[in-house]
Amino acid sequence: MSPAGALQRTRSKPCGETLRCPGGALCLDFCNTGQGARDAHGSEWLAGFADLLDWLEAEGALGADQAKRIREAARAAPERARALWSRALELREALRRVFEARVRGEAPPREALARLEAEHALGAAFARLAWRHGQGRWELDASVGAPDALLQPIVQSALELLTAESLARVRRCGNPTCLWLFIDATRNRSRRWCEMASCGNVFKVRRHRERARKGSASRRRAPRAARKA
Ligand SMILES: [Zn+2]
Repeated sequence: MSPAGALQRTRSKPCGETLRCPGGALCLDFCNTGQGARDAHGSEWLAGFADLLDWLEAEGALGADQAKRIREAARAAPERARALWSRALELREALRRVFEARVRGEAPPREALARLEAEHALGAAFARLAWRHGQGRWELDASVGAPDALLQPIVQSALELLTAESLARVRRCGNPTCLWLFIDATRNRSRRWCEMASCGNVFKVRRHRERARKGSASRRRAPRAARKA
């Protein structure tokens, strides 16, 4: 299925939101699937191995053929698939701690980095060095059909971002109840919201109401003569 088709398919799901409003890197989108900020109940968006696989396919992190093979392998070994899904959620938590520390200007917790190192070591077995447009690139070996390979593209994305200049542009949404992370790609580094249409608008409306309330309060306080003047 093409990424556009997959997006269509996941649009009705909460985790489809990360595709509608991407953080700018697969690893940040992955962190955002765990925040549930658009969901008032804060529920888990990747509720099982199948969700993780669907989401990665929709993100374009693996092709339809490979997704199909991994889906079949997971069906044949459900315990293994479930263990992989648990590992994915632990990795997501470690990534969130690493990137949030960076946003605060702090060094990431050592145990979170160690988790990433461990997943990198495991994922390397499923990676290959591809050559495109005159450049080498580590990527998931498309011939692999093992469920355990699924974390490789996420780890790869995290390692690339953590060692890139764009790391300095990672931000957390300005809405305190929204934990979404994104890369601020604006020229003057002015992006504040994960998405203007949701968090940005909530704050615009709130600010407008506050101004209106302050305005009416100061009018009530002003003496009659002053008001006439
Ligand atoms: Zn937000």
